[in-house]
Amino acid sequence: MNRPAITALPTTTPPLLDVRNLVKHYPTRTFWRDSPPVKAVDGVSFSLAEGETLGLVGESGCGKSTAAKTLLRLIEPTSGEIFFAGTDIAKLSPHSFRPYRREMQIVFQDPYASLNPRMRARDIVAEPLRNFGWDNRHGGERVADLFHRVGLNPDALRKYPHEFSGGQRQRLGIARALALNPKLIVCDEPVSALDVSIQAQVINLLEDLQADLGLSYIFVAHDLAVVRHISHRVAVMYLGRIVEIGTAGAIYGDPKHPYTRALLSAVPKIGTNRRSERILLKGDLPSPANPPSGCTFRTRCQQARPECAERSPQLTDNGAQHLVSCHFA
Ligand code: ADP
Repeated sequence: MNRPAITALPTTTPPLLDVRNLVKHYPTRTFWRDSPPVKAVDGVSFSLAEGETLGLVGESGCGKSTAAKTLLRLIEPTSGEIFFAGTDIAKLSPHSFRPYRREMQIVFQDPYASLNPRMRARDIVAEPLRNFGWDNRHGGERVADLFHRVGLNPDALRKYPHEFSGGQRQRLGIARALALNPKLIVCDEPVSALDVSIQAQVINLLEDLQADLGLSYIFVAHDLAVVRHISHRVAVMYLGRIVEIGTAGAIYGDPKHPYTRALLSAVPKIGTNRRSERILLKGDLPSPANPPSGCTFRTRCQQARPECAERSPQLTDNGAQHLVSCHFA
């Protein structure tokens, strides 16, 4: 990861992805009574341009993964709109959604868990092609080309997932995601399980593929250094909502939300071992089934004032598309 950080893309119209007020609540029931739902995603809105990477960061449990999977309808949204190339795919029937499915793919954190251990690598990559009607000859050529693109040797075609190293397995997962020539890839913690040196190789591969193929990425990760490196823009999530979103330069260089500042204070400054003064978050993440009133971050915020308990702050533009939801940012 020795390349310079990338700069924000100019906004394109219309965006590839335009997400409006996306909600995913999980109902919870015990034998005795209904409990409040888990508000895993609670009103998330953002857009993504073609060829752009949006990093999604936040502590574990803040709703990143649920939001990312809901975009692809691997998890059905409770409400909200997901415009993909101008069509609201959130409400399409499974049949009408199928053509969009090939345009939107996912790479998981743990390729070992997501790849069928009993299938050879070539069949893992060929499976989506077969599902969409490719014949064996063209499919075989496409698979060989994909292996080459992601840096896997032809002798890997016959191997099973357990015969690959962690980094190679992630390359295999990327090859499968690329098979149908998608426009969008959701990367859900794709390098979190890899050694640091391998992480850099996989990140560089994703960047090269983006440059060659014009892909858009939603990049979910808890490692803020990795997200900074690969993202044009970054969204910070807390308890199911985006609390700050802006260019990577704005988020890392001039964070406005107290939560973003606290997260960043734990990251060493690029090129040094220095951190800014560490801001400790009070207590644990509250339950998304019972979030605090008003500003949901207030119970852990060092700047909280009494009015924060009364009004929920809106995500508002502080200029240059840097949006923050804090009454006192
Ligand atoms: P992150 O990716 O930021 O770690 P997740 O999206 O995995 O967060 O989870 C957000 C919240 O939703 C967590 O409190 C988690 O326990 C809850 N959650 C996730 N999946 C389910 C589910 N199937 N049923 C109930 N709650 C869930």
